[in-house]
Amino acid sequence: MTQAIVVINSGSTSLKFAGYATGQTLAVVCRGEVEGMLDHPRFSVSSSDGKVLATHDWGQGQTLDHKGALHFALSWMEQNIAGLKIVAAGHRVVQGGTRFAGPARIDAETLSYLDGLTVIEPSHQPYNVQGVKAIALAFPALPQVASFDTSFHHNMPEAAKTYAVSKTLRDAGVRHWGYHGISYDYISRQVKKVAPAARRVIAAHLGGGASMCAMLDGRSVETTMAFAGLTGLPMATRSGDVPADVLFYILRRGLLDVAGLEKSLYHDAGLLGLSELSGDMRELQDSKDPRAIAAVDYFVYSMTKYAGAYAAVLGGLDAFVFTAGIGENSASVRAALCEKLSWLAITLDPAANARNAERISTPESRVSVWVIPTNEELMIAEHTASVLGL
Ligand code: ADP
Repeated sequence: MTQAIVVINSGSTSLKFAGYATGQTLAVVCRGEVEGMLDHPRFSVSSSDGKVLATHDWGQGQTLDHKGALHFALSWMEQNIAGLKIVAAGHRVVQGGTRFAGPARIDAETLSYLDGLTVIEPSHQPYNVQGVKAIALAFPALPQVASFDTSFHHNMPEAAKTYAVSKTLRDAGVRHWGYHGISYDYISRQVKKVAPAARRVIAAHLGGGASMCAMLDGRSVETTMAFAGLTGLPMATRSGDVPADVLFYILRRGLLDVAGLEKSLYHDAGLLGLSELSGDMRELQDSKDPRAIAAVDYFVYSMTKYAGAYAAVLGGLDAFVFTAGIGENSASVRAALCEKLSWLAITLDPAANARNAERISTPESRVSVWVIPTNEELMIAEHTASVLGL
């Protein structure tokens, strides 16, 4: 019998899952997705090498809730992968609040605490929590663990966690949380392997959501995604930094109401808002439209500002890491940033950069520069195994 952990990333209309066999090292058994849950649910599952194992289509106009989707996915795994027994579920949960500095087993009280954090982060948290509730209903005996995106930043220095607002507001949860922590946890472990002497590291997780993190000795000391994942770097459709006084102006002028403002900054801003073409970096880089070029320049400019600030926070820099879709694949974004950071004694190896090599700086470069593919799914499986002692 193979014991497996199922890793779940539950969203509003779709969810991703992956099975990991437990043992000395965790090995992917399968991964899949249920999408279109509100209007046209579809299931697909592939083997670890990407071969499609099965699909299922509920039909146009049908709906499927999280419980139905997860029941289908987990049952499929146990019925179709010979000898497989699911022994735990590990969930991505974006917000762990002040309580969780690491992954945690979920009981009813924890679940209600996590539910209460949706007011801070309403874009992902409600759906992450829905995934946990769905498993509790469909498989009540299955132990569940949450990996939090905030945990990696839990022990940032006090100044980094703080906004200079009244005590009343600070006591109400107004503070710098930071996200993408599951990815940064994975990256910090990989940096220990490839560059064990690097103490002062900046990592840039550049995907549809984008952020940077300053790490000292493998721990987060600063990060760009601030309160609910909107600000810091510009993202596919999220604005990045917009000063608070601008928001008052927009509201006072009646340009948008509160709901419209939230939608505008989360969904119509960032690379999409600037270019008016696309929020997808590859599409922008393939375009000769001046607005696309300006949007990419703005992205690199924002990273340059934060890299300078974070080098100051760290008291210097030993290594820089690029990860996620843009970080792992866009040689030109990496080259543009490294060019801006040459004052930090970064020297790029253009050939290594062009082939997305692991180390893309020259051997002489005082700061080493790395391309490390992130693996949040594996990190959640490892967190789950360690919490449950599997
Ligand atoms: P998500 O945050 O949705 O998981 P990813 O980490 O997959 O996203 O990153 C998606 C981003 O990576 C998109 O902007 C996409 O255009 C970009 N990307 C992927 N491949 C390339 C490439 N070869 N060149 C430039 N950008 C790329």
